[in-house]
Amino acid sequence: MLRVQPWGPVTRVSLSRSLVGRPVFWVSVYVVDGLLIDSGPYRTRCEIVAVARDQGVEQVYCTHQHEDHTGGNRALYDALGLTPQAGPATVASLLAPPPIHLYRQFSWGQAQGAPARAVSHIATERYAFAVMPTPGHSPDHTALVEPTQGWVFGGDLFIHERAKYLRVDEDLATLIESLRCVAALHPTVLFCGHAGVVEDPAAAIARKLAYWDELRAEIQRRKASGQSLGAIRDALLGPEGMMTHVSRGHLSKLNMIRALDALATP
Ligand SMILES: [Zn+2]
Repeated sequence: MLRVQPWGPVTRVSLSRSLVGRPVFWVSVYVVDGLLIDSGPYRTRCEIVAVARDQGVEQVYCTHQHEDHTGGNRALYDALGLTPQAGPATVASLLAPPPIHLYRQFSWGQAQGAPARAVSHIATERYAFAVMPTPGHSPDHTALVEPTQGWVFGGDLFIHERAKYLRVDEDLATLIESLRCVAALHPTVLFCGHAGVVEDPAAAIARKLAYWDELRAEIQRRKASGQSLGAIRDALLGPEGMMTHVSRGHLSKLNMIRALDALATP
């Protein structure tokens, strides 16, 4: 499934596997001035090739190695001869993508290896982008920054202002530092893989960090009164949802509570 939404010179392309006519999980990629930022899942590779052809895409950049951001790489290379570009820490995983959990295979599909090139900058006809390391969500995560326009293409850096779920392999302390670094740039717009177009991103990031700070303080208060982390999760975030069960805990609210608790007790 495919949705295309223009935002000035940037086009947001949302992609999802379709199951009995319904989307399973949307992810957004962006096209600007012939540059495609992230290639979406393997399961929507035909859609992204069609978009790339329609929009005259000449370059591809991947913010990080996760399969919902890189799954179109092989098809884009085979159909259009586009060699994906990425930060140096991402390239090895694009050449030979690591195996993924069953729930990720179901939702997005296993990315296939494709040629890839490490870059630190990307120039298009009208814009100049710099690669900014923003680890935490994954160790290799990067953002693409266009300083003249104040744009940040942030992949999975932001995701949601009140994120309740965390992957077990995310490094929350490093993610918070990356969010602070991006906010310090005072960008005008953040283009997110899940939240879409976020205007005034420094304020949105401040609200996101304040929300986590409040949760962290409440976790400490409840722990001091003898509550377990499971009971605290139920009280603050509610019981686990379907994604926790489907992912067998790889993605869960308890991961978030544990990570916030670990921040408070270094
Ligand atoms: Zn990701």
